[in-house]
Amino acid sequence: MIFRCKNCGGNIVYDPARKAMCCPHCDSVDSEEAVGSPIMNTCINCGAPMMFKDHTSATKCPNCETYTILEERVSGQYKPDMIIPFKISKDVAQGMLIDEFGKRAFTPTGFLSYSSISKMQGHYVPFFMYDYHSDINYHAIGTKVRTWSDSRYNYTETSYYDVAREMDGDFDKVPVDASIDMDDGTMDLMEPYTYRELEEHQDKYLSGFYAEKYNMEEGELAYRAEKKVRRDSDELLNNTLGGYATLTNVNKNIAVHKRDVKFALLPIWEYVFNYQGVDYKFHVNGQTGKVVGKTPISKSRVLAYGATVFGMIYIAGMLLRMALMAL
Ligand SMILES: [Zn+2]
Ligand SMILES: [Zn+2]
Repeated sequence: MIFRCKNCGGNIVYDPARKAMCCPHCDSVDSEEAVGSPIMNTCINCGAPMMFKDHTSATKCPNCETYTILEERVSGQYKPDMIIPFKISKDVAQGMLIDEFGKRAFTPTGFLSYSSISKMQGHYVPFFMYDYHSDINYHAIGTKVRTWSDSRYNYTETSYYDVAREMDGDFDKVPVDASIDMDDGTMDLMEPYTYRELEEHQDKYLSGFYAEKYNMEEGELAYRAEKKVRRDSDELLNNTLGGYATLTNVNKNIAVHKRDVKFALLPIWEYVFNYQGVDYKFHVNGQTGKVVGKTPISKSRVLAYGATVFGMIYIAGMLLRMALMAL
C-alpha cells in the first residue's frame, strides 16, 4: 500500500511536526488516498522490483523512493493494536544528535557532517505491552533498638515486631521489544516512552518510515516483562519497610500473572556511522528525543590531543627552567 496525493500524484508521508499527512511535492495536507496492490514484490508506483527483509513491514522503493507498506505484514495476526506516531521530525532528531555529540573532544571527522547525518532513518520498532498483576505476601521479624544511659549503666532495649504485608498491584503496559535485530540493551535505554500517548494503530502513520512486524513471540518474551514487574513489586514492598533496625525474613512471596498483552509500534530515529569498517549505531527516541549511543574514538584525534598536552608540559618545563636560570 502506498499513500498517493490526490492533487499531484506524489507520495504522501506522515509529518510529525504538523501531525498530519502531508505531500512534500505540492504541500497539500490530508489529500492522501491509499493505493493497494496484491503483488508484493514490485513497487506500486513505478513497477521496479523490491526486495524485503523477512520482517520488514514498511520500507522505501530503491528506485522511485516511494514509501510502501506491506499490507500482509500489518494485518491479521500482525496488525498492531497500538502505535505512538513519530513526534520528533528528522531535522529535530539530527539537531539533537549534534547537540549531544558536537561538543565532545574525540569524535571522528565526518561523524556529524550533513551528508552522513542525513542518512538517518525513522523506524517503528515492534513491542509487546504486557499487563501484569502481582500479589505480594511478606512476613518478617523486625527489631527496633533504643539505647540510653544513667550514671551507672548503658541500657539497650530491643523490641521485636511481627511485620506482615499483604499487597497487590497492577502493572499496565510493561514494554518489551519484539525485534531480533534491535539490541535489547539499547531499547531498554530508549525508555521511557510516554505510554498515555499510545493510539489505535493506523497504517498511514507508517508512510515515510521503516517498520517491522514482530519477529519474536509474545510467550518467549514474557519473562523480560515479568522480571521488571518483580523488580518493581519488590520496590513497592521495600518502600513500606522503613524504620526497623533489622528484618529477618520468615516468608516472602511475589506471585505475578499476566492479564493481557498488546502489540504496539514505537518510533526511533536511527543513524548508522561506519568508522574503520565497524558500524556504530545511534538512536533518538522518536517521541521524547532521548539520545542513545557511544561515539567511536578517533585514534588520530586522540593522538593529536595527546601531542598537544605533551607539548604544553614540555613548554611549561622550559619556562620553569628559564625562570630558575634567571634567579
Ligand atoms: Zn501533492
Ligand atoms: Zn518505485
